[in-house]
Amino acid sequence: MSGNSARRQAIRDVRAYVPPAPSYTATETPGEIFGENVFNKVVMQKRLPKSVYKSVMATIENGARLDPLVADAVASAMKDWALEKGATHYAHVFYPLTGLTAEKHDSFFEPVGDGTALAEFAGKTLVQGEPDASSFPNGGLRNTFEARGYTGWDVTSPAYVLENPNGNTLCIPTVFVSMTGEALDHKTPLLRSQQAMGEHAERILRLFGHTDPARVVSFCGPEQEYFLVDRHFFLARPDLLNSGRTLFGAKPPKGQEFDDHYFGAIPERVLGFMMDTERELFKLGIPAKTRHNEVAPGQFEIAPMFERGNIAADHQQLLMTTFKSVAKKHGMACLFHEKPFQGVNGSGKHVNFSLGNNELGSLLVPGDNPHDNAQFLVFCAAVIRAVHKYAGLLRASVASATNDHRLGANEAPPAIISIFLGDQLADVFEQIAQGPATSSKDKGSMVIGVDTLPVLPTDPGDRNRTSPFAFTGNRFEFRAPGSMQTVAGPMVTINTIMAESLDYAATELEAAVAGGTDFDTAVQSLLTQIITDHGAVVFNGDGYSDAWPIEAEKRGLANLRTTLDALPELITESAMDLFDKYRVFNHREMHSRYEIGLEQYALTIGVEARLTLEMGATVILPAAVRHQTELAINIGALTAAGVEPDHAALSEVSAPITKLRSALAVLRDALAGGSEETALGEAEHARDALLPAMSAVRAAADALEEIVADDLWPLPTYQEMLFIL
Ligand code: ADP
Ligand code: MG
Repeated sequence: MSGNSARRQAIRDVRAYVPPAPSYTATETPGEIFGENVFNKVVMQKRLPKSVYKSVMATIENGARLDPLVADAVASAMKDWALEKGATHYAHVFYPLTGLTAEKHDSFFEPVGDGTALAEFAGKTLVQGEPDASSFPNGGLRNTFEARGYTGWDVTSPAYVLENPNGNTLCIPTVFVSMTGEALDHKTPLLRSQQAMGEHAERILRLFGHTDPARVVSFCGPEQEYFLVDRHFFLARPDLLNSGRTLFGAKPPKGQEFDDHYFGAIPERVLGFMMDTERELFKLGIPAKTRHNEVAPGQFEIAPMFERGNIAADHQQLLMTTFKSVAKKHGMACLFHEKPFQGVNGSGKHVNFSLGNNELGSLLVPGDNPHDNAQFLVFCAAVIRAVHKYAGLLRASVASATNDHRLGANEAPPAIISIFLGDQLADVFEQIAQGPATSSKDKGSMVIGVDTLPVLPTDPGDRNRTSPFAFTGNRFEFRAPGSMQTVAGPMVTINTIMAESLDYAATELEAAVAGGTDFDTAVQSLLTQIITDHGAVVFNGDGYSDAWPIEAEKRGLANLRTTLDALPELITESAMDLFDKYRVFNHREMHSRYEIGLEQYALTIGVEARLTLEMGATVILPAAVRHQTELAINIGALTAAGVEPDHAALSEVSAPITKLRSALAVLRDALAGGSEETALGEAEHARDALLPAMSAVRAAADALEEIVADDLWPLPTYQEMLFIL
């Protein structure tokens, strides 16, 4: 294939590419390598003095304060272990509000006077770090003169060694806070919200007769969707490279309809990639099996086993980093963007949520006797109430410029937050709504503490996929989060609204019992009242149907379509009081999250707009003009030779060229106009001026892609990118 464009070169490179040999050996079993690079309980038990081990476990399991002497002992054992694993550096890993993972690396070795170096790693180094925080978003929480942020060891999330050809690194998961202790990250509020939720869940358990319940935590099983594209194509697309999505690209002649191609066989390269990622994840103690069942060509999914919310969130971030680096090794790029290809299904990250403890398992599992059922129903009702009352906050927790392309586009749940319970459970709550039976049991009503539940299906199977918040047998699945997001954001919101709902339920029940009401009766009236007040959020129908938004409006459910509609939910009085009451965020922290949400939105769209302008003007327009010139020359030559030329072909390309030129001019002006005073002003400008101007450029460019001679077209096409050879 001839031609000098980046696309031509990429096609040649793709054809010549030889994938690397798999790095696993046939005899190796997953059990052998699982967790081999993790400073986990087994390692600690082996390497720490008994009393130190016990003290660390008390912190991990019950949140007891960590003794500084214990920190010294752990640091020393951790260092020895890491050095044996070939680590030369250690890093405090934190999760700033960009949604990415950040690391501050330091060397273990410090030079000593005699010209040698000594490995140093004290307890205080383990416990606290001071990265320069000025480049991370803070939404007004840090004054410029106080650029420092502080990282603090999260004892509950195990440290691990990350392998790298240039030397291994001991990674320590940490929180990241300002000098005044305000959260600059995603982990701090996750830990705080976890604690609040657990505390009130334990009150409910006590009411149900568990006198000394084990600590209740939330669990999270995140399902991650992603795309793989050949790296040669990726590198030839400045838009993918810089914004994570294609800003141009005509719909391929064959679209999703031929996914049969994919279900049949995974391309060998992709299989090699999957096996390699699994191996890397296993070493890091991440329980994940890759799969390949997504709708779009080139799209795949991985669902790690659920873990404690905080660990699941850290593992999820590490998983994304691992995928990116392993994909690179296999000559591919892994795309986590919610909508890399227009007109092709996007990617989400389903957050499967449950709460429970070591003794009782998931508290969202129906029991097999009336007493346990009653307990299950109280937890379930708490979810229904929380989701109804705080739907706006759930919506805000998944708001981003990138997720806006997906939510409500009939490939992901609508922006309207509702709950799917399934027929049987919905029926149970309907019966409860009828109120308690009086002397004889009324038809259709259910008596708590006497009646048993129908058998609810535990297999999520092929249930309603259009619901944003679905009960799936032993958990709820929040389907609105975007594929690029950290799960910590949604988990913080779920934990906090659950804390409030469980607090409410516990307070009601405690008061009723103290007032002499029989417990079963108290539970019955609580459930009846909750389902009466909040049942409007339960919807088992088709969330993609045209009738749903109309019906939802009648029910008073909000439809916050875009990020800018959703973000103000964070700064309502009631939202700020809620987060403050449960000590997850103070008002300043809430404001900072809101500001950062706006900044990130404007930043994302700003980058895309500049890329659209640059690529439109310097890549696409020149190609189209070359094509136009060839046609014009051809017309001249044919006329000279006395042959009647086809003028239509020339005007066919000239019209979209004119359109492209004027659309580029509009976009250039819109970009020049965007220097608003406030974050909100910038964000509104991005939504109202930049997005429409980008769309117009794209429409003209995509029309040209279908006309311009293939050998002149400069960008890898959808067809090429979506199929891994
Ligand atoms: P589906 O594709 O039907 O949505 P998957 O089987 O792909 O479901 O994903 C299920 C996810 O839910 C997995 O990550 C799994 O670990 C997680 N999960 C299962 N049980 C629980 C639970 N009790 N709490 C939280 N997550 C759970
Ligand atoms: Mg799912």
